[in-house]
Amino acid sequence: MTSTPPPPVIVWFRRDLRIADNPALTEAAATGAPVVPLYIHDERLDGRPMGAASKWWLDKSLRALAADLQHRGAPLVLRSGDAEAALRAIIDETGARTVLMNRMFEPAAWERDAEIAQGLKSDGVACRGFNGTMLARPGSVRTGQDAPYKVFTPFLKALLEVAEEPAPREGPRALDGVEGLKSEAVDDWGLHPTRPDWSGGFDWTPGEAGAREAVARFLAGPLKAYGDGRDVPGKTGTSRLSPHLHFGEISPWRAVRAARQATEEGRVPAKQAEKFVSEVGWREFSTHLLHQFPYMAERAFRSEFDAMAWRDDAEGLEAWKRGMTGYPIVDAGMRQLWATGWMHNRVRMIVASFLIKDLLIDWREGEAWFWDTLVDADMGNNIQNWQWVAGSGADAAPYFRIFNPVTQGEKFDGDGTYVRRWIPELAGLSDRWVHAPWTAPKEVLGAAGIRLGRDYPAPMVDHAMARKRALDALEAIKPARDKD
Ligand code: FAD
Repeated sequence: MTSTPPPPVIVWFRRDLRIADNPALTEAAATGAPVVPLYIHDERLDGRPMGAASKWWLDKSLRALAADLQHRGAPLVLRSGDAEAALRAIIDETGARTVLMNRMFEPAAWERDAEIAQGLKSDGVACRGFNGTMLARPGSVRTGQDAPYKVFTPFLKALLEVAEEPAPREGPRALDGVEGLKSEAVDDWGLHPTRPDWSGGFDWTPGEAGAREAVARFLAGPLKAYGDGRDVPGKTGTSRLSPHLHFGEISPWRAVRAARQATEEGRVPAKQAEKFVSEVGWREFSTHLLHQFPYMAERAFRSEFDAMAWRDDAEGLEAWKRGMTGYPIVDAGMRQLWATGWMHNRVRMIVASFLIKDLLIDWREGEAWFWDTLVDADMGNNIQNWQWVAGSGADAAPYFRIFNPVTQGEKFDGDGTYVRRWIPELAGLSDRWVHAPWTAPKEVLGAAGIRLGRDYPAPMVDHAMARKRALDALEAIKPARDKD
């Protein structure tokens, strides 16, 4: 008598585009049943339309994942459209009774997944979720009063106590796939930009192998002096892991473990490794916050800031986006973002402060631009950080902290390496003037071949005036703010 083979198990890939340390895939392989790896292209995977730079990344990451799965014997099935409809179709085609997935914690995605699981359950299909993307499941790190943490330092401490490190797993070497399933082609989804293709300066290797290379490069160099190096935008002082982590090409535990192991082997000082762990902790803090306070995607976390009188300044916003504000460190950052899909963290803070405080433009405008242009665009991280700079977030920068773009440039890019790299028109200016070209004598500008207003803009706003204007606007919401 021949026994009937078990029905296949569907692994629904989303933000876990990897083989290793992938709990849903590991579980599927362990059942011994055939595995159907599935990706459903949905423009609103996070509950909001995907940004253009994210699509660029997704395009390459999916190809890498497809190759890795093909190699293991289970081709990746690509479908598009409404997730539940696509899942039901593939369930019908394969007779699968189980769908496994690693959870997404963005509020809309979380709700969608719960509805889908409910709907499938009533049809006898089990849907199981795992945590494959965070050190600890959002919602699991609570204060003694059983409330979410709103301050980072105690959150980090509790996180590191609560989080359970999973054993590292390289993932299945071979999978029993299902033949003959229809699949769409990544090419047909138009994720890579054309007309024009603005991605010529994107120097990234999306995919699991690219993520591993990034870790190896980081461990071999920048991590050794990460604490200070991470603040110097002219050098590679950070891991550049953010897009890999966002798309789940590496688990955060693997990155953390690698840094700690480097310490144990005496290659990296413990202090540097733990600084890195605490930055990964900010990623946790951001995602946990958004998961528990979904309203912060649209409104100020601290509601008194909803009364801010923002300026409506389309021209100013455009100059900021294009890197034409006349403040070199701001413009260099915005141009790095446009050219490479990434911006150094220190400079992200400076450009965000400039938009919010010097131009008094609503942080949501900046968040939206970052969302469209960053390869690491991530709802939790982007929203939390924008609100942090605005002063309206949890554990945010004090509202009166207004970055001076000139002194910030001088402090963190003292030798002008970063500014000259991204603003070649200023390359002929010496360190003394490069962060404030309008203060340079005419002869100096002339010798450098610069006429302000022609070759590079004069500052679009006077920082001292703008600072006062921002403080006045913040003062105006003070009575409400101080009620807390
Ligand atoms: P590393 O210094 O090597 O840090 C390691 C990892 O820790 C990062 O990959 C990232 O996952 C995490 N991390 C580091 N700093 C932060 C932080 N401040 N908040 C949250 N996580 C952090 N990061 C994103 O991943 N997506 C975003 O959309 C995003 N938007 C931002 C918007 C603003 C206004 C600001 C100020 C910061 C934003 N960040 C965002 C955080 C940070 O700038 C990037 O994570 C970091 O620059 C990525 O570079 P890295 O991987 O080399 O970082």
